[in-house]
Amino acid sequence: MGAGGRMSVPPSGSLKRVPISKPPFSLSDIKRAIPPHCFKRSLFRSFSYLIYDLILISIFYYVATTYINHLPQPLSSVAWAVYWAVQGCVMTGVWVIAHECGHHAFSDYQWVDDTVGLIFHSSLLVPYFSWKYSHRRHHSNTGSLERDEVFVPKKRSAVRWWAKYLDNPPGRFITLTIQLTLGWPLYLMFNLAGRPYDGFACHYNPYGPIYNDRERLQIYVSDAGVIAVTCFLYRLVSA
Ligand SMILES: [Zn+2]
Repeated sequence: MGAGGRMSVPPSGSLKRVPISKPPFSLSDIKRAIPPHCFKRSLFRSFSYLIYDLILISIFYYVATTYINHLPQPLSSVAWAVYWAVQGCVMTGVWVIAHECGHHAFSDYQWVDDTVGLIFHSSLLVPYFSWKYSHRRHHSNTGSLERDEVFVPKKRSAVRWWAKYLDNPPGRFITLTIQLTLGWPLYLMFNLAGRPYDGFACHYNPYGPIYNDRERLQIYVSDAGVIAVTCFLYRLVSA
């Protein structure tokens, strides 16, 4: 589009604050600039991505459970760690496909998207509908100090004193590690780093302040999905 080049931004270095005037293009201009075929949802193509990931996951699982235990120590421990990372990358692909289902981008059929999303987000212990609703509000309020759902931008006065020591590659590695391991479950459970709510905001609570009356029943369905997969995993590990 190139329209951004016409914005009256002072040369870099002299920028004291972010531009507050509206950009010279609208959201519909951006949508018009995207080729129409990009908005077409193909059931076949979407399922092909999903099946491709499931095949990769099965292969990695088979190789790991068949061969890693035969390796001598410490090679076997190293191999398990590598397996977790590799399998985690592919499973993140499945997580993203379920995320697209939440945006009704997987197919033209809402019920297909919700069924696929519920199955695959539950299998990754994500409460599908609960997150779908809060996440949708995140997209419609991204970057808003008052209304964004998560990753709420901080005012300069709210930035902690130690933040400047994390603004380097090792610091970012530590931050991302904490965010991806503890941050995500803590956000779902306790709304950590989420926007302030009146009352305890928890993605598993159908009566919490995140949801309205129309959404509550589906929060129960999301919880049932996560509980079912947790029980399955418990039995799998016990066996
Ligand atoms: Zn999204």
